[in-house]
Amino acid sequence: MARTSQTLSSNVSLLKSKASKHAIFGVIIAFAAIGLATLGVAFMNGSEIGFEAVIRAQKENPALWLLDAMPFIFALWGQYVSSLMAYEASAMVIDQTSELRTQTTILEQQAMRSATYDALTELPNRILLRDRLEQAILSASKKKRRLAVMIMDLDRFKEINDTLGHYNGDRLLKQVATRLQGVIQEPGTVARLGGDEFAILLPRISEVKEVGSIVGKIHKALQAPFMLDTLKLDIQASVGAALFPEHGADADTLLQRADVAMYVAKKDHSGFVVYASKHDEHSPHRLTLMGELRHAIENNHLVLHFQPKVNVKSNVVEGVEALVRWQHERHGLMPPDEFIPLAERTGLIKPLTHWVLRQSLKQCAAWRLAGLNLCVAVNLSAQGLMDMELPDTVAGLLAANDVPADRLILEITESTIMMDKDRALQILTRLADMGVRLSIDDFGTGYSSLAYLSKMPVKEIKIDKSFVMDMENNKSNSVIVRATIELGHNLGLSVVGEGVENAEVLGILDRLNCDSVQGFHLLRPIAGPAFDDWMRKAKEKGEIRVEAGNICLTPSA
Ligand code: C2E
Ligand code: CA
Ligand code: CA
Repeated sequence: MARTSQTLSSNVSLLKSKASKHAIFGVIIAFAAIGLATLGVAFMNGSEIGFEAVIRAQKENPALWLLDAMPFIFALWGQYVSSLMAYEASAMVIDQTSELRTQTTILEQQAMRSATYDALTELPNRILLRDRLEQAILSASKKKRRLAVMIMDLDRFKEINDTLGHYNGDRLLKQVATRLQGVIQEPGTVARLGGDEFAILLPRISEVKEVGSIVGKIHKALQAPFMLDTLKLDIQASVGAALFPEHGADADTLLQRADVAMYVAKKDHSGFVVYASKHDEHSPHRLTLMGELRHAIENNHLVLHFQPKVNVKSNVVEGVEALVRWQHERHGLMPPDEFIPLAERTGLIKPLTHWVLRQSLKQCAAWRLAGLNLCVAVNLSAQGLMDMELPDTVAGLLAANDVPADRLILEITESTIMMDKDRALQILTRLADMGVRLSIDDFGTGYSSLAYLSKMPVKEIKIDKSFVMDMENNKSNSVIVRATIELGHNLGLSVVGEGVENAEVLGILDRLNCDSVQGFHLLRPIAGPAFDDWMRKAKEKGEIRVEAGNICLTPSA
């Protein structure tokens, strides 16, 4: 306030001095006019123009008296008007400046909000929750109080999302958020961590019982069916809780332990579990893996296995699919299902995908050097495909390894495409324009129509192994496989059968004109460095021939 009035008075004196300058000119002009008028009157009086004549004119002519007063009137009036205007102008400038300041503050607040609040549910996001949790820990430790943090995950949400689409999935999440807000009163916080995962912070509790009673209320609030248009949905949730100080002294440990407890609640369908150290045994991976995965990617603790894809009619190995594993110090060779979802949730999927792409193309280049015609297929997860920089990354890696674009196949699932169709189409088109081939993986597990998918620039569909594996005994699966092959061919797509575990299934797929197959019956995924070894031995045993750079399985293999 003091600064504003200081600015106002300095602005006013600045403007006033400018206006005063002009007033002085006015006064000089007025004096000049008086002089001229006096001389004029003296001249008209007929006397010679001199000092006496001028004095006489001034004494005798009342009109000149009026004129004489003018400079003083102008000077006073000028001073008055100039200071008035200076005040007005300066006040206007100050008003506008403070309006600009208010607008900037609003914009700053909006930016701050979007960084700390979830756009869909308008609940605090992970960042704000952590911040509040840290504050709460500080205050709880000072006042020797307890607090609880809970993680809640909806059961079967992925199914709902895949079946009803993302739009409806989002609508459901909003409704869940509203109900949770109803249950959790101040000073508690409900936050959305991402996907269908929510967190609840209770900064002041005295007993574990209190947490149990709040979770009871949450379950009750979720009991009434959710309405999506005319559709009624029953939603259950699993909640895990960790308490300060008994389960951890910092935000990270508490959140991780609440996550472990939630995982146990989900596994035993109990709905709610408070963390206990014995739970770590059920989920040793989950607890520590998050921190270790980044290190593993950076230090090449991941490995690629390659599974050949074989042409049914010619028996030629057309290419290999790169399947990532994690060579973990304590847990041994970990399958992708145990860490890919984690990588998706923690934002590590991008560096992971880049690692897989880099290693796959390096391997592909090595095979090319050795004179082998092998394409390499890389799996892209949902977050991996949504990366707008992916086409450029791929272009760079292809060039760096001197691998032609048509040697690379990217496998994407239908649900990934359906997550954000426009964005997927944009990225896939750029990749296809570069010459990269695109394949729809796990086909049949989503709910999208093949007619829609064929509008994407894809070349191939891979029928999910759940339909193929037992098709010799399962009538409905074999009908699905037959129909998919026919439809795929009608749409100009090449069709791959995954999960071929025996000769019978291979025979059926051959009769159904399936183009290529992949499965344990033909070849299991082989570690990169072991691939050459396998080739050498298989050649010796007569299981494969290599003709013009093509690896060809001999029919008995
Ligand atoms: P997917 O893309 O469907 O890969 C095929 C999976 O089926 C592989 O499991 C493979 O080992 C297995 N498989 C192959 N033939 C047979 C068979 O005859 N019978 C049976 N029962 N299974 C067979 P894996 O390697 O455990 O990979 C699992 C999933 O993890 C993959 O499914 C893929 O979705 C994901 N994945 C693997 N590597 C990557 C990666 O680099 N990036 C991403 N985003 N996902 C990956
Ligand atoms: Ca795949
Ligand atoms: Ca698959």
